[in-house]
Parts: sequence; C-alpha cells; structure tokens
Amino acid sequence: MKPFWKNEQKDITIIVGCGRLGANLANTLSEEGGGVLIIDANPDAFRKLSGSFSGIAQVGDATLIHTLEEAHIRQAAAVVAVTNNDNTNILVAQIAKEMYGIPHVIARLYDPERECVYDEFGIETICPAVLSSKEIDKLLGAWAGKEQAI
Ligand code: AMP
Repeated sequence: MKPFWKNEQKDITIIVGCGRLGANLANTLSEEGGGVLIIDANPDAFRKLSGSFSGIAQVGDATLIHTLEEAHIRQAAAVVAVTNNDNTNILVAQIAKEMYGIPHVIARLYDPERECVYDEFGIETICPAVLSSKEIDKLLGAWAGKEQAI
C-alpha cells in the first residue's frame, strides 16, 4: 500500500493530542475506515489507542512546524487540536488554517470566554463546559416537562 502522503486525495484527519478525547476520536474515525494521523508529545499516550487502530501515531510537539510537516499536514482534509492546553490548540489551529489552508479545523477550548473569538478566523471551537451545560440543561428541561405531565 502506498503511504497516504503519496495519494492525491486529501482525506486524512490529523488529531493533535492523544488524551481521552483525541484517542477516542482517533479510534472512532479509524473504525469508520477514515485515514487518521495522531500526534502526541508523549509516546505513552498512544496506549489509549485501540488494538485495531489502523492510523499513524507520531510522537512530537505539534506547535513545531517540523512536527506538522513530518505529519504531511498539506495532505490533511481536517485538523483537530485537542490537547489539554487551550493556547496549544489555538496555535495549532491557526497554523493549520492560515499557513496551510486546511479546510476543516477544530480546536477544543476549556475556557468558554475564548470560544466566540475564533469563529471569525474560520476555526470551529468545541468547548466541553458549554456542551455539557447545554446537555444538562436539556435533561433538566426534559425531566421538568415529564413531571408537569404527570
Ligand atoms: P488530556 O489531558 O487527556 O486531554 O490529554 C491531552 C494530551 O495532549 C496529552 O497526551 C498530552 O501529552 C498532549 N499534548 C499536550 N501538549 C502537546 C503538544 N504541544 N504537542 C502534542 N501533544 C501535546
């Protein structure tokens, strides 16, 4: 099989950070048959990948251009930055969007106050605190609705 960067098609997702979220996403995309390359600064982090993970695990600091070039970022259709550091995620997302013109870029942000700032740069942001509070609000609303109906 040809290495993916020799393929013309841009269908690789690069995930930055192999924590619980990154590993879970990498396992899911791989199971679905998608091309995945996951980067983490700590090689031990890759233990979270499933035995059937068929993508590439690359050790490196994703804030370094050298690491992103080694990951053949130009070939990526999407870059998802989900390290445990908002600044790292934003930096990687901005490099992916502005330097390499990657069409789909997503960054996880812990700090909800920073979320809206990045929309204007074309960077999608996922804020676990905001998503969780919306879901909890939905559940509470659904329970309240059921109790009223009784
Ligand atoms: P978690 O805390 O479970 O969300 O995991 C975050 C992951 O991001 C850890 O495995 C870290 O090693 C990884 N990480 C943090 N900073 C970087 C970075 N600059 N480059 C690559 N991986 C990183």
